[in-house]
Amino acid sequence: MKIRTQAKQIVLKGGTLFDPLRQTLETGDVFIQDGKIKAVGKIAGPEGAEIIDCTGLIVTHGFCDPHVHFREPGREDKETLKTGANAALAGGFTRVCVMPNTDPPLDSPESIRFVLEKSAELPVHIHPIGAITKGQLGREISEMGAMQFEGAVAFSDDGIPVANGQVMRLALEYSRMVGMPIINHAEDPMIRNEGVMNEGIVSTRLGLPGNPDVAESVMVHRDLELAQLTNAKIHVPHVSTAKAVHHIRQFKNDTSLALTAEVTPHHLYFIDEALSSFNTNLKVAPPIRSEKDRLALIEAVKDGTIDCIATDHAPHTIEEKEATFDLAPFGLIGLESCFGAVNKILGQQSGLSLKTILTLLTLRPRKIMGFETDLFAEGCEAELVVLAADEEWVFGENDIFSRSRNTPFLGETLVGKPRYTIAKGSVAEIG
Ligand SMILES: [Zn+2]
Repeated sequence: MKIRTQAKQIVLKGGTLFDPLRQTLETGDVFIQDGKIKAVGKIAGPEGAEIIDCTGLIVTHGFCDPHVHFREPGREDKETLKTGANAALAGGFTRVCVMPNTDPPLDSPESIRFVLEKSAELPVHIHPIGAITKGQLGREISEMGAMQFEGAVAFSDDGIPVANGQVMRLALEYSRMVGMPIINHAEDPMIRNEGVMNEGIVSTRLGLPGNPDVAESVMVHRDLELAQLTNAKIHVPHVSTAKAVHHIRQFKNDTSLALTAEVTPHHLYFIDEALSSFNTNLKVAPPIRSEKDRLALIEAVKDGTIDCIATDHAPHTIEEKEATFDLAPFGLIGLESCFGAVNKILGQQSGLSLKTILTLLTLRPRKIMGFETDLFAEGCEAELVVLAADEEWVFGENDIFSRSRNTPFLGETLVGKPRYTIAKGSVAEIG
C-alpha cells in the first residue's frame, strides 16, 4: 500500500458510481479539487489533473466502522492510532470509531481530546467513543456531557459488559440527555461463567468451557427494556446469536425505540466447528457461534433487523495469542479483510445485492453515529473508496497493515478488494 498526498486535481474516471444516500448506480467520473468534491458525472478535463482509471471498478462512499480498538494509549505494541489508520485505509475505511478500553480508558474529556489531537493529521477520521463508567469499572457514570463537548460520538464500556442493571439504566438516562447512543457489550458475566467458546456440541467435544447464547440474549433483552423505559438511543454491538436477533427484531417491530444493531464479518463467516483447530485467532467475545446462529444473522441483515457491519478490530500480540486456547486474549483484527469477507458471505453466498452490502458499510453506520451522509455533494470532503467488487483473492500477511497479526482470515479466499481509499487529502493505493 502506498499512501500519498492528493494531487490538487484528481479525476476518478469511468467508474460505476454508487451513491448509498440516493441508492443510484451509474457510470461516471468524480472530480476532486483541493481534497473536496468538485463535480460528479461526465467530466471533461481538466488539463493537468491526475487521472485514476476506474474502469470496471465501483466508486462509493468510504467505509465507516463504528467499532474498532486501536490500543492507544497504553498498548502501542499492539496498535497505535497511526497503524490502525493504515489498517483502515487498506480495508477501504475512511472513518472509524475507537472504543475506550485503552490504558487508561477514554473516560474523561482530556482523554477524548488526546485521541482527537493525536489523530488530527492521520489520513483517516478517528472518532473516540467515551466510556460509560469511570475506569470502565461499571460503577460511576462518566462525565458524558463534557466528553461529548470534546468530540465523543457515543458511549460504551466495550470489552466489559455493564453488568449492573441500575448503572445501565442511569447510563441510558444520561445519554438520552446528550442525545447519543449507548453501546453495551452484551454478555451476562455470570452466565458466561468464564466460557471461552460457544457452548454446544463442539465445546463439549473439544473439552473447552462454553459460553451459552443466552449470556448474550438475556442482557440484550434487559438493555432493550431499559432503553424503552428511558426512551434512550441504543446500539447493540456484535450481535452473535439467533436469540438476540429475535429480541431486536421484536423490539423493532413492536416499539418505536431508537434501536440499531451491528454484526461482525467473523460472526457472518465462521462457525464454532472451525475452533476444532484450536486456532486462538478465532477466540473472540462474543464467541463464534453455531451454523444456526450464523444463518440467523444473515437473515437479520436481509430483513433489516441488523443495520450495519462493524469489524470489532481487536489487535493482540503474537506472544499473547500463542498462549493455549484457555489463556489467550479475546479478539481478532478485521479491517483489512472486512469487505472481501462480507461481500463473499452476503453477496456471493446469500444473494444480497452489492448496493445493500455497500449501504451496510457506508450510509448506515454514518447515520447511527450522526456523521455526514451526502458524500457526493459538491464541496464535501472527498471521502471515497474504489473497489474491485468481484475480484477473488487470498488474504495473506502482505495484506495486513495493523501492527498485529491475529486474524483467522489468513489463507481465506475473499471476494472483492479495495483498490484506492481517499480521505483527508490523501490517497491510499492498495494494489
Ligand atoms: Zn464488545
